[in-house]
Amino acid sequence: MEKTLPFTKKQMTSIMKRYPTPFYIYDEKAIRANARRLVREFAWNEGFKEYFAVKALPNPYILKILKEEGFGVDCSSLTELLLAQAVGFKKEEIMFTSNDTPAKEFIKAKKLGAIINLDDISHIEFLEENAGFPELVCFRFNPGKLKKGNEIIGKPEESKYGLKKDQLFKAYELMKQKGIKRFGLHTMVASNELDPEYFVKTADLLFDLVVELSEKLGIRLEFINIGGGIGIAYKPGQNAVDLSKVSKGIKKSYQQKIVRNHLDPIKIFMENGRVITGPYGYLVSSVLHKKNTYKEYIGLDASIADLVRVALVPEAYHEITVLGKERLLGDHLYDVTGSLCTNLDKFAIDRKLPPVDIGDIAVIHNTGAHGHAMSFNYNGKLRCAELLLTKEGKAELIRRAETPDDYFATLDFNRSWRSI
Ligand SMILES: *Cc1c(COP(=O)(O)O)cnc(C)c1O
Repeated sequence: MEKTLPFTKKQMTSIMKRYPTPFYIYDEKAIRANARRLVREFAWNEGFKEYFAVKALPNPYILKILKEEGFGVDCSSLTELLLAQAVGFKKEEIMFTSNDTPAKEFIKAKKLGAIINLDDISHIEFLEENAGFPELVCFRFNPGKLKKGNEIIGKPEESKYGLKKDQLFKAYELMKQKGIKRFGLHTMVASNELDPEYFVKTADLLFDLVVELSEKLGIRLEFINIGGGIGIAYKPGQNAVDLSKVSKGIKKSYQQKIVRNHLDPIKIFMENGRVITGPYGYLVSSVLHKKNTYKEYIGLDASIADLVRVALVPEAYHEITVLGKERLLGDHLYDVTGSLCTNLDKFAIDRKLPPVDIGDIAVIHNTGAHGHAMSFNYNGKLRCAELLLTKEGKAELIRRAETPDDYFATLDFNRSWRSI
C-alpha cells in the first residue's frame, strides 16, 4: 500500500529544475491541519499548549507556521533559544527543557523570560548563582521504577534525566523558601511511542504528584508538561496514535484527580516534535547508480549524512516511493544506499520496490522530524536544502543547501581549491 504524496512526479520534476536533489520538502497544509487537530482535541483544557520541540525541525519558517497555530517552543540549547527569539516567541511561549546545562544558556533563557525546567536539584543553586530565578520554575520528574520503560528512551531508572521523587519534594520546598510562587511539573519518559494509554498513564502519574505536592507542601501547580514522544506510523501496518483517545483518557484522569481535589485549573502542556512534523516531511533524492554484485544496490544522491536516523535507530524504517512507479508491483529486492564510505549508509536493506532506473526520483517518507536536523558533514558531505510546499502549492526554499564555502567557513586556511 502506497501512502499518498502531496506532489506528483510532474510537479516534483518541475521543482527539481530549480532545486537539485537531494532536499527535504515539508507540506505546510498538512502541518497546519495536524497542529489544529491537536489543539482541538485538548480544547477542553483551558490553557493547553503544545511547545514544539525545536530539535525535531529547527527551521524558523516552520517555527513561524507553528507559532501562528498557537504553539510555543521547547528549547534545549542557546542556539535553539536564539531561533525562538528570531521567530518572535515571547516569555512563557518558550519552555527551556535542558540537561547538563551551561550557565550561559540559563542566562539567555532567564533573559527571554522563558519557563525554566530544571533537570536536577543541584541546578537550583547553579541557576541562582548564574542567572537568578525566573518567575515560573518547573522540575523534570524521573519516575524510576514506577514507570515501565518505552522502547527507545529506555528504562527511566537508567535515564540521565530528571529528579527522583524525594528530590522533587525537596526541590519544590526549597524553591518555596526562596520565594518562588509559580510552579510547573514535567516528565518525559517516551520516544516514538504508539500506545495512547502510555500518555494517559504519564499524565495520571503527574496528577497524582500534583495532589501529593499540594497536600504535603501546600503548593499549587500551574501546569503539568507530559513531554513529547508521541510516535508516528513509520512502518506499513502501524497506526498513528489516536489523539482523541489520549485526550479523553487524560480528561477522565483530570476530573478524577484534579477537579475532585479542587486543584483545577491546571494547564496541560506537551512538547512533541516528531508527531507534529514527522509525517509531513519528505527527503527527495535521485537515483545515481545501479549496481549488481552479491546484492542489488540502488545508489541515491542522498546519504545518511542527510538522514542519520536510519543508521542510528536499530528499528528505523522509512517507506520509499519511486515517483511515477507507485502502481507497479514491488517485485525487486534492493539495498538503497548513499555514497558515504561506510556500509552503514543504507536507507533500506532488502526492500521490495518496483524496478528502479537511473534518474528515477526516490521519495523517503516520514522525514519531517529528526531528519535534516540531524544531518552532518561526514565525508565532506554538505547539508542539503529544505523546501516548503506552501499551502498555495508552491515550492519555496526555506534553507539553501550548503556549499564548499560553508564547509570552509570555520577554517582559517587558504582557499586554493577555489581556483581548481
Ligand atoms: C526530544 C525531546 C522532545 C521531543 O521528542 P519527540 O519524540 O520528537 O516528540 C521533547 N522534549 C524533550 C525534553 C526532548 O528531549
